[in-house]
This record gives sequence, structure tokens and C-alpha cells, in this order.
Amino acid sequence: MSVTTRFAPSPTGLLHVGNVRTALHNWMWARKNGGRFLLRIDDTDRERSKEEYVADIRADLAWLGLDVDGEERQSARFALYEAEFDKLKAAGRVYACYESPEELDIRRKILLSRGLPPVYERKPADAPVPAGVAPHWRFRLDQDAPITWTDMVRGDQNFDPKSMSDPVVRRADGSWLYLLPSVIDDIAMGISHVVRGEDHVSNTAAQIQMFDALGAKPPEFAHEALLVGTEGKLSKRLGSLGMESLREQGIEPAALISLLARLGTSDPVEPVADPAPLVATIDFAHFGRAPARFDEAELALVNQKIVHQLGHDAVAGRLPAAIDAARWHAIRPNLMTVAEAADWAQVFDGPLAPPPVDEADRTVLAAAAAAAPRIDWSADPWHALTGAVKTATGAKGRALFLPLRRALTGRDHGPDMAELLPLILKDEAVARLSV
Ligand code: GLU
Repeated sequence: MSVTTRFAPSPTGLLHVGNVRTALHNWMWARKNGGRFLLRIDDTDRERSKEEYVADIRADLAWLGLDVDGEERQSARFALYEAEFDKLKAAGRVYACYESPEELDIRRKILLSRGLPPVYERKPADAPVPAGVAPHWRFRLDQDAPITWTDMVRGDQNFDPKSMSDPVVRRADGSWLYLLPSVIDDIAMGISHVVRGEDHVSNTAAQIQMFDALGAKPPEFAHEALLVGTEGKLSKRLGSLGMESLREQGIEPAALISLLARLGTSDPVEPVADPAPLVATIDFAHFGRAPARFDEAELALVNQKIVHQLGHDAVAGRLPAAIDAARWHAIRPNLMTVAEAADWAQVFDGPLAPPPVDEADRTVLAAAAAAAPRIDWSADPWHALTGAVKTATGAKGRALFLPLRRALTGRDHGPDMAELLPLILKDEAVARLSV
């Protein structure tokens, strides 16, 4: 079977980690199977949909490296929906309804008060049609056709259509609700696999009958468990955690991809700069049924591991010019984000504010200042320097290394000094030791 997936966001806001995860799994499944990954902009809600969000969605997908093989927008497809709707109407699978929201609410409450499920009660075919009321439209479920599918994540699913309300598919003003246009598009776009959140499971039950009613075979479905924050629910923060704010925090796209690809699955999170191994191993059978917990602290750790893998080529455009490949390699193991590299530019070339000197360290520093000018900077200057100071003062271990590191870098911690020191200009190093 040729694989086509789609990511179908409504452009009513920015993408957040939850919908990026859905997009990612659709993309991975398509790429693993040599298929196509389509973007479908669900902009039937004319008022809430904004062009700027469409642009942001495209930009975020591009930033993440989720390349799309095509794009459709629902607002350009109303003629198709109209035509399919007419067919369903002619076949008696959609029908006009005239109840007001208040009336429906009262009926629901009556049913509930009698201990009955609040399922919509169809009117008899000969019920009077109220004058001057524009109808809204429902899809007529076939109550004699049990709904079953084998979900790639959830396994066998069964729904009894008798316990389901005929869903409203079109409002009285002619506007479309989500359910039917999505099915019409999934058919027209040749979607083979629908990967989305488990909040859509009951929609799927109704949509399977819509596929049948439109003469199409339903696609395969994978409903993934929802993403929750560390507090155990999809917090406001997580729901609004957009790509822009992650970028500002220095999160690399590969970090987000590495975490979201595996979160909530039985496969371990693997920080990889290139997603190929993740794509190759995606398997919906490995996805758990319990909510996946998204932890920003875990993302920061994955990010750190990604930064440590990035080659100079991949980051050069974001580094100060002074950080060449050798310098990048020296400082990389100490960075949480690429942006932190800028803090190290001064460590190499100065100016470096002279760090306070401990009186106890003066002997070591004086010996270092005396030895440094005679050292060949091109051949392991750190070992030559520490060797000379040790011989001159007898200092060793921390008492030897820390004062030198502090004077040379202005910090107590950092990269391996043997790697760092040759990258600091000799004159600059001598000056820093001469305190
Ligand atoms: N626009 C729908 C949503 O964002 C799409 C759901 C689907 O994937 O079918 O929930």
C-alpha cells in the first residue's frame, strides 16, 4: 500500500509541542514507508483562522525539518464539500434538523434525568417542518452496522452506533463542522493513515461510517495518547509552549524531534542530530496507552546532548566569527545551548575582566607568568605550563590547576584546559597570568 499521511492543524493559533508531536509522527510514518506527508490547513472557521498562523505553521515545520510533499486548504475546497454533501443528501445519509440549541439541551437533560444516555433522538420522517427556520444538517449513522477498526496504537475498537448521536456536519448558515470535510479530504487526498490524538477516537467512529457512505475504504488509524505536562495534565503552559519560545531558549529542532519521536513509546529517547534512525524504527505498536509526559527539564538535557554532537558546519552561522572549528570543538562539551558559545569568545581573545586573585594562589601564578613566555604554544602548552609550575612550586592537583584555569579563563569550570589553552593567544595568556 502506498502511504500518505497528513497533518491537519487549524490555523487558529501557534503550533505547540502537542500538535508538533502529531505532525512529527505523521511525517516519520510517511518517510519510513517512502510515502507522502501532506499539510492540510483546516481553515473552515473563517473568523478564527488567521493567515499569519498559516505562515507560522509552515515556518515551524520547516524549522523542525518536517518537509511536506503538498499542501491543501479547506477554505479552497468548499465546492467539493458541497458536491459530496449533495450526494449524501440524495442518499438520505444527511438530513435537515430544526431544533434550537435550547431545545436540544432540554432533551439531553430529560434523558440524563431518566438515567438514559443523551443520544440525539431522530424526528419521525413526517414531523412538521417549522416555518422560517433554516435547518442544520446531521449525518445519519447506520445503526445496524457495528463500527470496528483495528487501531495501530489502541488495538481493536468497537462502537455501537445505537449509542451514538447522529453528528451535526453543517450549520444552519451553511458553514462546515470538522467531521465531514475531513473525511471528504482524506478520500480526495488519498490518505492511507490518519495519525492523531486519542481525543479524536469517537470522531473516528462516526467518520468510518462517512467513508463507507461516500463509497471509500477508511484509512488506517493510529490514535496516540495525549501529551501531558509534568503535573499530569495538558497544562496551559504546555498548550501554549510554541516553537518561538523554544527557539529563544536555545532548543535545537533535533532535540525536540528526538524527544517527541519516542516520548510515550517503549523505545528509549535517543538524542540524535539526524532523525534517520528514529524514522527507521517508528512503530505504532510501541506507542503506550498512558499519557506521555513532557518534561521541559528532560528537553533541556536532550538538547545539551544534541549540542555536543553538532559539527561546526551546522552552527557556524550562529556563532561569533571568533569561534572557529577548533574552538567550537573545545567548548562544545560545556554548552547547554549553541548561544552560550558567545560567552566563550572573550575567553579566547579577551578582553577578560581580571578575576579576583586568592593570596594563596600568587606563588603558582607568579611561577606560571615566569614560565609561560618560554613555552612553545604550538606543542601542548598546558602540559608544559603545569609541568614548569609544579617543578618551581611543588603545587599539584587542584591547588595547581584551579588558579591557572581561573586566571586563564575567568571561570572555575570549563573545557579541558589542554584543548583550550592552545586556542588562547599566547600574549593574551601571559598577560592573564601576570597579576
Ligand atoms: N483540524 C483537526 C484538529 O486539529 C484535525 C484532526 C485530524 O487530524 O483529523 O483537531
